[in-house]
Amino acid sequence: MITPNRHYAELKDSYLFTHIAQRVEAYQAGHPKERLLRMGIGDVTLPLCDAVIDALHRAVDDQASRERFQGYLPECGAPFLRSAIAEHYRSRGVSLADDEVFVSSGASDELGDILDLFDACSSALVIEPAYPAYVDANVIAGRRIVHLPASREDGFLPEPCNEAQADLIYLCSPNNPTGAAFDRWQLQRWVDFANEHGSLILFDAAYEAFIEDPTLPHSIMELPGSNTCAIEICSLSKTAGFTGTRLGYTIVPHELIRAGMSLHDMWVRNRTTKTNGVSYVIQRGAEAVFTLEGQRQVRENLAYYKENARILMKALDQTGTWYCGGRNAPYLWVQCPDGMGSWEFFDLLLHEAQIVGTPGAGFGACGEGYLRFSTFGSRKDTEEAARQLRMLLG
Ligand code: PLP
Repeated sequence: MITPNRHYAELKDSYLFTHIAQRVEAYQAGHPKERLLRMGIGDVTLPLCDAVIDALHRAVDDQASRERFQGYLPECGAPFLRSAIAEHYRSRGVSLADDEVFVSSGASDELGDILDLFDACSSALVIEPAYPAYVDANVIAGRRIVHLPASREDGFLPEPCNEAQADLIYLCSPNNPTGAAFDRWQLQRWVDFANEHGSLILFDAAYEAFIEDPTLPHSIMELPGSNTCAIEICSLSKTAGFTGTRLGYTIVPHELIRAGMSLHDMWVRNRTTKTNGVSYVIQRGAEAVFTLEGQRQVRENLAYYKENARILMKALDQTGTWYCGGRNAPYLWVQCPDGMGSWEFFDLLLHEAQIVGTPGAGFGACGEGYLRFSTFGSRKDTEEAARQLRMLLG
């Protein structure tokens, strides 16, 4: 008889969004006329930009043409897209070979799949509060997880320390949920630490496009020494509104060698075994993101979310509420007032201001006492939420 992977039984049920939905539903049942201001949503709301839509249409027409029809593409990504992404990095001063870029269906898929490169005995460091998939993917693989709590004192950007020793190190900057982003010096410390200990950093850059401080690194690959210790996982989901369209990319440097094995070559072997790549049409749409016009249009959409962030930050500043994030990320990580717990503050916001946030406790134990606001909502809702926050917390 087949033995199932017993580690699935060790997964903690993810009650967070179910609990939120239940409480919201119960509130709506009692207050059917109230309009809710959904500031918990981690999904984009603006449509794809015109440059992407035009490219998608052209690619669909290619598939209707005997001359231009595309069958299977190379598993690791279409050369036109790998080259466009590598060129995008080169334009930021990071020298990458095209074949160090692997096209994927999104960061979530890669964050899970990349673990195939490492054996189950390796340990994984997760800085908490954290995107829940880091922990869950390693629980499924039966790996030992080292939890490193971050706090307001370290700006939710802890430095490497003895307790942080692990084979795999997850770093997410700008961070979901805290919105905090490493500066060059802080990130360099992690790169040096990983090189000293032979650890491997899995750098999640899903929110790099939201960085507005010109001194902050967008990619770990900008830092000296990263090519011997880091894999970068990125996505067009939040950068270009591809959450439903699906496209991401992963950078695996040639210099990444462990136990005499090239992780780059192993990843090529993995992809050519486990996937037949991403759809031609979607890769053409993604290529358009990296054109000058695509970049201009994508930034217009990001500016909309960034204005939402400014509106919420202003309201929180006016009420003297402590928060981080918002400037270089689409999330604000807000300290609950008067020592309230995450769920207590969630209920207060729901009942008194009709605002739905995401309780910080859902991102790990040290998220207790905080609540995450997302800036992906509509302008109208964001303005109303800011007004309500001023009245409630002011
Ligand atoms: N990484 C982080 C930190 C995220 O917040 C998300 C999505 O919210 C992802 C990865 C997944 O992105 P994708 O849509 O590319 O799977």
